[in-house]
Amino acid sequence: MRRPDELAVLARRVVALGIAVCVPVLVGIWFTDARSDPWVRWGYPPLLVFLAAFAWVLLQRSRWAVRAALVTLVGLELWWVLVAVGRIAQAPDAASAWASLAPTPMLDVAVCLVVGFLFQAPRTAALHGGAYALVATVAIGAALLRKPGAGDALWLTVRYGVYLGVFIALLLVLSRAKERVAAAVADAAAADATASRMREMAYRDELTGLANRRRLLEELRFQAGRVGPDHPVSVVYLDLDHFKAVNDSLGHAVGDRVLQVVAEVATEVVGPGDLLARLGGEEFVVVAPGIDGRRAALLAEQLRERLPDAIEAVVGRRVTASYGVAELTPGQDPAGALQQVDALMYRAKAAGRDRVAAAEG
Ligand code: GH3
Ligand code: MG
Ligand code: MG
Repeated sequence: MRRPDELAVLARRVVALGIAVCVPVLVGIWFTDARSDPWVRWGYPPLLVFLAAFAWVLLQRSRWAVRAALVTLVGLELWWVLVAVGRIAQAPDAASAWASLAPTPMLDVAVCLVVGFLFQAPRTAALHGGAYALVATVAIGAALLRKPGAGDALWLTVRYGVYLGVFIALLLVLSRAKERVAAAVADAAAADATASRMREMAYRDELTGLANRRRLLEELRFQAGRVGPDHPVSVVYLDLDHFKAVNDSLGHAVGDRVLQVVAEVATEVVGPGDLLARLGGEEFVVVAPGIDGRRAALLAEQLRERLPDAIEAVVGRRVTASYGVAELTPGQDPAGALQQVDALMYRAKAAGRDRVAAAEG
């Protein structure tokens, strides 16, 4: 669905295209009618310049478009009333005066009403169009009154005025409906954006930008359902060593930075299909579908080698981590899987930290 500014661009293009179509038509009319019709002879050349200037504004100076459109529209509206009254004045009687208004001036009054709805708010366009239709009808009627045999022509003028009113009412209903649809679409898009922001917040760890515990548990449940003889899924659990001491000696902000470095480096090390999550505190988990326990232990070794140097480069102190690695069993529940790798990680801690403990199997 198009946004309002895109719609404004589209409306400008439609009007510019309309003008592009009108210009050759007006030039053609000038060549055929200029000799017999002084309105065409003297009126059309400035009208053409006016329209060309307006088209240029629409395409090249979009900031002025709305103001230029209003000036152009009111100018054209006055011009068609003037042409209608002038033609009536020149006609010998009311019947031929009425005939001289069809089709161009009559049709162009209606075109002006449509154009108003293209760039004005529906209510404004309806008020503007109503006032114009009234002025045009009264001016034509008043000019016809002075002609011999005005009765029938006056009646036709009243009917024309009523048709214009009905036409405006239809345009108003249509543009109101269009506005409602646009508003509904905008509301739906906003609700969609809010929902995806909420989803994002619900699944993301704020400090590191990684997946959070909720997302991790969902992934573990999903991957446990996919485990099979040809599809191993492994889990790596990482807990920073003596992290409390880092906070105590360097401050909580530096501790936070360390957690972010772990997230950045681990993101580079894990595979594109792996899920890296911060379980909480200084504990991280990698869910690696498609790799067995042996390869997952190699992944943990890679992290074990890279993390302390990377952390030292940022905060000036080596921080190591202890790792637990296991392969998921088919249908294993997420809590059980986490308990298993957590227990292995504690085994690594107990064995002296800065090491990987993998499940046998
Ligand atoms: P061990 O080697 O046994 O794991 O020791 P440790 O000090 O890492 O373990 P412990 O669980 O005692 O301490 C974890 C610390 O992590 C305590 C807490 O202050 C800190 N911590 C938890 N969450 C955050 C956090 O978001 N930011 C920072 N800076 N520290 C955190
Ligand atoms: Mg811990
Ligand atoms: Mg720790």
